[in-house]
Amino acid sequence: MDYVERVLAEVKERNPGEPEFHQAATEILNGLRPVVAKHPEYEKAALLERFVEPERVIMFRVPWVDDAGKVHVNKGYRVQFNSAIGPYKGGLRFHPSVNLSIIKFLGLEQILKNSLTGLPIGGGKGGSDFDPKGKSDNEIMKFCQSFMTELYRHIGQDTDVPAGDIGVGGREIGFLFGQYKRIRDEHVGVLTGRGLTYGGSLVRTEATGYGLVYITAEALRVRGESFEGKTVVISGSGNVAIYATEKAQQLGAKVVAMYDSNGYIYDKDGIKLDVVKEIKEKERARIKVYAERVPGAEYHEGCKGIWSIPCDIALPCATQNEIDGESARLLVKNGVKYVAEGANMPTDLEGIEVFQKAGVVFLPAKAANAGGVATSALEMAQSSGRLYWTFEEVDAKLKNIMVNIYHNMDRAAKDYGCEGDYVTGANIAGFIKVAEAMMAHGIV
Ligand code: NDP
Repeated sequence: MDYVERVLAEVKERNPGEPEFHQAATEILNGLRPVVAKHPEYEKAALLERFVEPERVIMFRVPWVDDAGKVHVNKGYRVQFNSAIGPYKGGLRFHPSVNLSIIKFLGLEQILKNSLTGLPIGGGKGGSDFDPKGKSDNEIMKFCQSFMTELYRHIGQDTDVPAGDIGVGGREIGFLFGQYKRIRDEHVGVLTGRGLTYGGSLVRTEATGYGLVYITAEALRVRGESFEGKTVVISGSGNVAIYATEKAQQLGAKVVAMYDSNGYIYDKDGIKLDVVKEIKEKERARIKVYAERVPGAEYHEGCKGIWSIPCDIALPCATQNEIDGESARLLVKNGVKYVAEGANMPTDLEGIEVFQKAGVVFLPAKAANAGGVATSALEMAQSSGRLYWTFEEVDAKLKNIMVNIYHNMDRAAKDYGCEGDYVTGANIAGFIKVAEAMMAHGIV
């Protein structure tokens, strides 16, 4: 049993009932074999054992009262995974599926993603099993206030800076920030994704989706191709999916399908994004309404069918494990050439293998969706300096970061003898900086 196998066996034994965390650890550690082989001092320092163990896990009760006066209790989480290269940074997810395993998988991924951006941010993640769907604004506010009434004591602008994720957008960040400011009496950059009137950064809303398209555009460019005229399928219809669609369309692609958790829309003439924005951002309604409003568009119940639509580029932007081996095989059969992950871990391990064996250019989440957290770090820089950059300035920095990420993971893959394997390349490129910082800090 080699070092990686031994640590993975320990991860499974010591963290029972956490399948998503096991999956993420397996994907990451398997890719780090060549690095630990080159650095025997890592094993002596139990570096991988420390890397997979969060520095701190905070779990708390979140009681709140709904509009009818009924009391509810949700679970709250913040996993402060690794602060070797900077303060913990990572989003908050509000979704009924949230549990410790999911927050830990996201936190582990976040460490390497944040390192890949080249910016000084550590890894963390948090959230709640609260379901924001169907709740009034008042109920969302009550919940956010209760959540922050516990969380505030664990975070800070130089300690841990949460942001949004599934179910946490501008509205929720506003309520969370308001409560933090009220309790701590300080107006600081303790959360990112803030509104523009209270310390937010231009482009943060668009950043993950735009960044996803920028890095895919770079992968296309080095192969003499571009988005122009390509057919694209994008899953999800939330923040990441909407702004990935916007940028892909600006670059001349035709996005033909999107979904929410009930079903998918197919519009052979190209999705009308203004209609999607109206439905999802303003009305907070279901995506099926699109087919009622746009002549010629189709709506299909269930999500999986979206991967049967022929496309050149697939951008999964909803949630984990959306693409399994079967869906991956279908995409390959129908001619997909590029898959870039907007969501976190949307492709399962079998799906990744199918894409890689078929020669599909596969850009993993920790590289492809790093634009959001990178722009969050730019928001932190602006907060600290009490200054504001223009949309064009932030957008140019974001694009530059995404292009650099592409070349860093490409170079790492080549250096370690696995050219074109960006899963391994991204893991290695992200890990090296964290590992060096952890070694420098001694056994902590
Ligand atoms: P949103 O809440 O804005 O949107 C999520 C979208 O995914 C919605 O359309 C939602 O549909 C759909 N969805 C959620 N769960 C499922 C499911 N089980 N099956 C099918 N569809 C589902 O979230 P974001 O766009 O912010 O996040 C999407 C992904 O991107 C997540 O994996 C997140 O971790 C990742 N990400 C986000 C970043 C950001 O900056 N926002 C940064 C980096 C990664 P419905 O409305 O029906 O629930």
